[in-house]
This record gives sequence, structure tokens and C-alpha cells, in this order.
Amino acid sequence: MKTLTELTFDNRFARLGEAFSSPVLPEPIAEPRLVLASPAAMALLDLAPSEADSEVFAQLFAGHKLWGEAEPRAMVYAGHQFGGYTPRLGDGRGLLLGEVVNQAGQYWDLHLKGAGQTPYSRMGDGRAVLRSSIREFLASEHLDALGIPSSRALCVTASSTPVWREQRETAAMVLRLAQSHVRFGHFEYFYYTQQHEQLRQLAEHVLDCHYPECRDQAQPYLALFREVLERTAGMIAYWQAYGFCHGVMNTDNMSILGITFDFGPYAFLDDFDARHICNHSDDTGRYSFSNQVPIAHWNLAALAQALTPLIEPQALRESLDLFLPLYQAHYLDLMRKRLGLHSADDRDEALVQCLLQLMQGSAVDYTLFFRELGDSAPAQALARLREDFVDLAGFDAWASDYLQRTAAEAGSQDDRRARMHAANPKYILRNYLAQQVIEAAEAGDYGPVRELHQVLARPFDEQPGFERYAQRPPEWGKHLEISCSS
Ligand code: AMP
Ligand code: MG
Repeated sequence: MKTLTELTFDNRFARLGEAFSSPVLPEPIAEPRLVLASPAAMALLDLAPSEADSEVFAQLFAGHKLWGEAEPRAMVYAGHQFGGYTPRLGDGRGLLLGEVVNQAGQYWDLHLKGAGQTPYSRMGDGRAVLRSSIREFLASEHLDALGIPSSRALCVTASSTPVWREQRETAAMVLRLAQSHVRFGHFEYFYYTQQHEQLRQLAEHVLDCHYPECRDQAQPYLALFREVLERTAGMIAYWQAYGFCHGVMNTDNMSILGITFDFGPYAFLDDFDARHICNHSDDTGRYSFSNQVPIAHWNLAALAQALTPLIEPQALRESLDLFLPLYQAHYLDLMRKRLGLHSADDRDEALVQCLLQLMQGSAVDYTLFFRELGDSAPAQALARLREDFVDLAGFDAWASDYLQRTAAEAGSQDDRRARMHAANPKYILRNYLAQQVIEAAEAGDYGPVRELHQVLARPFDEQPGFERYAQRPPEWGKHLEISCSS
């Protein structure tokens, strides 16, 4: 274990130079207070949980202090936002403080979000509000606990610094950890500005630091693109299987590591709804739940376009054709696990699709359905769950297919329950839960957000005494409107 002041830095991205990022110092926020920290994320830096109690912790993560070896930089990137190309975005309110190497030799970017204005702030104030910082923290750490690839969050720091959104709010900072902050939009920036040498340098950097195994392939750049595509397909499969709606799948929010990245108005589905739009500002539903699959494919095509100076277009096209089959295979694997099936059958895709169609419009809670399906023997569980469906004849036909399918598999109900509970969370980050703890935190009470974080860190475990966190949303919590403003 290390103390905060003992971290080892090796700032590889900063060394790429001025074409890639600009040096900027964080602008501190007033009267910083630690809202919460994640012991699991701290462990990635070899930090003991007690380090969060030190005074210097809140100071470092509110921009008041800096390590001697840190080299804070704002990265430049571009991106397709809602389908239209913005030629220059960049870190408008976040800074890459540096890269920390842990005792296992793993590198972690320390990115301080809400750190003040940068050359890329455009009209923005460089700040992040408490509400959105808490939302990013909770989602990052919860997705990781669910086994879904994601950036991580070390802590949130609140302040008395005022910021204006639709109303007066206060500034906060979230310290994000990721093995890389390179986005699809980084490649687009160098492609569309015709800086092809820098494009190559960026690809070399990503290969060296994050995909060294691709060096052994005949065409390392192509191998890199395939790997990004495969990881992205895997990530989207998780989102679709677990009901996660990202909300702003612009190419600048797509990580080159295929991890969930840049949290805005995201949501986990309560009732299953393939057409759910979680972003109140997404008028056309471009980023609706079911559109996430074709949009990921579209974003990969945008990345492929940016890589055309390095890779033959025909090879890129052939790789893009692999996306849907890869996604589908990952997704079916996950859904089989959720249904408690350990063998594969050609009819499984139809079994899953039919279930989702029945859920659509029936107001069936997407998380609790699978959890309860594993609670008791199949016939018993189905008899209980049947009550939630509108199309009873349809449900009975599906249930009969499902029973046949489970009967063909060996194993006791105890095994089945253990397997299914390991794949089906009881606790999920519902919007109404986030809303409740945000309101408490805004009033200065951090107890509820800390407790929610602890519950969501063990989403698959029964947690006696905390069952209220597993409940479906109350009426007021069903249709919360979350906008892009953050
Ligand atoms: P996001 O919606 O957080 O993914 O941000 C999209 C772009 O807008 C990124 O370049 C951000 O850095 C920038 N941005 C968002 N909010 C602000 C802000 N309050 N001040 C400056 N830049 C911002
Ligand atoms: Mg972003």
C-alpha cells in the first residue's frame, strides 16, 4: 500500500507533445469537501481506503494541490455529435493530471473533471455540477461491479463555488480513472485536420501502451482496429443485456479501449422498453436503447474513416462487417446466462427476442424479472412472473418453450439459483435512487450517496436490511427527465 504522496507517475501521453494536448493548471473550487471515495478504485492506485480521510485528499482532488510529478494537460479531440461533425472539441473542463503506475505495473490516467477552463472550453465555464459528478461516480463504480467494462471514479469533491445551469448550482470535481482517455474523436481530429503524421503517432502510442499484442500481427494497425471493434461489440452486448442506456454516444464519448465512457444523462431501464430515450435533449431518439447497437457500428465506421491513411479501406470494410455477428454472439451468451441456460441451442435467439417482445409494453421490471426467475424452480417462478404480463397467451407459449429448454439441462435448483444470481443483479442504479441521494448531497448530507454506493458495489449479493434499494421506482421516479446539462 502507498500513501497519496507516494504515487509514481509516468506521463506517456503528455510526452506526445503540443500537437496532442496543452498544459493547463487546475482552477481550484472553494471550500472543498469530500463527498465520497471508492475504496475499490483507490486500490487500483495501491491506496488504502483510509487515505481518503486525509486533508490533502480533498485538496488534491479539488485543484488546490498538485503532485510534483503531475503534468496536467487538456487533450485535443473532435467528434461526431448527434451525427454532425464538430471539428474541434477537446477537454473543455477536464484535465489529464498524469499517468500513475501501480505496483503491478498497470497504468492509470488521473483525469480531474470540472477543473476549470482550458483552450477547448469554447463557451463553457469549465465546471461540472455536483449532480452530474455524483452520477458519473455512481455509474462508473456500479458498472464495474456488474462486470461491465467502464472508466472508474476515485472520488467526488463538492464546493461552495457557484455555477449556473438552468439554475444556480455548485461546482464539484470527479476524479476519473481509466487506462486511457483516447477517444475515437482523437483519431478523427488528426484525420480531418490532415495531420496524418500525428495520426500515425497516435496509433503508435495506442499500440505501444494499450494493444502491444497487436504488434505481433502482420498488420498491426488493422489488428488494432479489429480489437477495438471486438471490445466495443462486447461492451454494447453488456449494455443491451443489462439495460444500460448511455444517452450520448457521440464519437468523442467512445473510448479506444471499448469501455463505457463519459457519463451524461444515462439510465438503467426500469420497465423494459426497447425504445427508451434517456436523454431529454435527444429529440429524434438517435441514442435510444435499441439504437445503441447500430450507433456503435456507425461510430466504428467513423473511426474506420479516420484510419484510412493507415489501413486499406477494403480491410476496414471487411472488419466492420464483423461487428454485428460479434455483438450478437456476445449478447446471446450474456442472455443465456441471465436465463440460467448453460448450453447453447439454435432457438435461443428467438427465445430471447420473444421474451423481450412480451416485456415491451407490459411494464415488466427488467432487472427484477431475471432475479425472480432464478429465485425458485422454473415452473414456480414463471407462475409468479406471469401476473406481470399483458399478453397471457403469449407468455404461456414462451414459458412452455423456456420450461422445455431448462428441463433439457442438468443441475439442481440450488445450482441454478446460484448461477442465475451471479448473472442477475438484485440492485441496479435506478434513476430515482440517484435522484434521492443527489438531493440529499445538495443539501449537505453525504450519508445517502455513500450508502447507495456501498449497496451498488455488491449488486449480485443479497444485502439484508437494504432491500429498499431493490424496489421498483415510485410513481414520481418513473419518468425523470435528465438533460445534457451537467
Ligand atoms: P460532454 O457532453 O461532457 O461529453 O462534453 C462535450 C464537449 O463539451 C467536451 O469537449 C467537453 O469538454 C465540453 N464541455 C462540456 N461542458 C463544458 C463546460 N461546462 N465547460 C467547458 N466545456 C464543456
Ligand atoms: Mg464527452
